[in-house]
Amino acid sequence: MPANQDNTFDVIIIGAGSVGVPTAYFMAKAGLKTLVIDQLPSVGQASNKHAIGGVRATHSDPAKIHLGSRSLEVFSNWEQENGDDIEWHQGGYSFVAYDEANAQTLQHLTTWQKEHGLNITWLDKENILKIIPNIIPEGLIGGTYSPEDGSASPLLSVFAFHKHSSELGAQFRFNETVLDFIRDGDRVTGVKTDQNIYSSQWVINASGGWAKPLSAKLGLNVPVEPDSHEAGITEPAERIFHPMIVDMRARPGLANFYFYQHPTGKIIFCMTPDPPILGTHTLASSEFLPKAARRLVEVMPVLRHIRVRRVWRGIYPMTPDGSPIIGQVTGLAGFILAVGMCGQGFMFGPGIGQLLTHFVLDELDEMDKIILESLSFHREFGSMEVLK
Ligand SMILES: Cc1cc2nc3c(=O)[nH]c(=O)nc-3n(C[C@H](O)[C@H](O)[C@H](O)COP(=O)(O)OP(=O)(O)OC[C@H]3O[C@@H](n4cnc5c(N)ncnc54)[C@H](O)[C@@H]3O)c2cc1C
Repeated sequence: MPANQDNTFDVIIIGAGSVGVPTAYFMAKAGLKTLVIDQLPSVGQASNKHAIGGVRATHSDPAKIHLGSRSLEVFSNWEQENGDDIEWHQGGYSFVAYDEANAQTLQHLTTWQKEHGLNITWLDKENILKIIPNIIPEGLIGGTYSPEDGSASPLLSVFAFHKHSSELGAQFRFNETVLDFIRDGDRVTGVKTDQNIYSSQWVINASGGWAKPLSAKLGLNVPVEPDSHEAGITEPAERIFHPMIVDMRARPGLANFYFYQHPTGKIIFCMTPDPPILGTHTLASSEFLPKAARRLVEVMPVLRHIRVRRVWRGIYPMTPDGSPIIGQVTGLAGFILAVGMCGQGFMFGPGIGQLLTHFVLDELDEMDKIILESLSFHREFGSMEVLK
């Protein structure tokens, strides 16, 4: 079945998630005829809605610092510029250290991050306790504080990007699955779904945890493995701290633990399982809550009586080095990867949307080029970011 004129676009985005929807917004804003296709019934229904909403520029890799900084600018100005409350809260991030090894790593990194223009400071115990008075002081050495980082609601954000991109002319097809790609020699010229054929100048694969099987249709081995993570939320309490607190201490079964207090007063918490739990599990396990609750009370004993309201489980689309894969694939014109977001797809979504719009318009600046080179599909995947 040939694609008809109505089914011809400048850009087709596969996936209406953390990356696909803000990308559609920036593409439509630039005047590009944009189509987003998702197999699920509405925006943000896969990993996006499982994210806890942390947004930071304080990474240990220049490409991620710049993607995070660009996203921060979008999230922090969104309500003022576009009118939607996305629950943006500029509470900062604090990585706390209870042992010398982590303290040294963080202090060393803070110096490097400052050199890269980030607003971050290493605070000793006394000063970190002024910012987080209820954190357990025993053994605390100090911590980083980056006041410009923050949090926003992943669902309110994706709804806002959807609303504004639709108003700007982007089209969305839900309950429709991309099955294959249309090719003309070395060029990808469209997609075939379970319902239609669409053609376009550019096809962006923003399919999150499905990146590997979908890219395999083009003969590519894209190293993205779904890795499941859980989170929980408590009842509301009066505000007792602002930053996202990241405690890097490992405990049996978990590599680290992080939590923050939402503008409604609820505490939202998450941990990195060790060893990783590979797979697309989305049913909460019985193991998470006992481990996470113990850890929360260990770090902040004042929370020992707070009641947990809900836990959930979702997917990190993981790459071997903990960084996303963004850009073109040699020998496949017209095809762009925006996958492998790991635990950071919500915070990178708007930055990636801007970057890919520059790319499609052939308006890349120097920083765009650095990001694309660093996050290329063709890199070695040998290193591992410290703050992945
Ligand atoms: C517990 C937890 C906490 C997290 N906390 C944070 C956080 O604080 N900050 C942060 O930045 N990130 C966080 N994350 C990670 C974040 O959720 C992901 O990195 C991000 O959502 C991935 O975005 P994505 O657009 O790549 O994928 P998704 O949001 O999953 O979107 C991909 C979309 O592609 C669609 N799709 C796939 N294949 C097809 C196909 N063949 N046809 C049509 N549609 C298709 C899917 O249906 C899906 O809607 C967290 C994740 C979890 C699980």
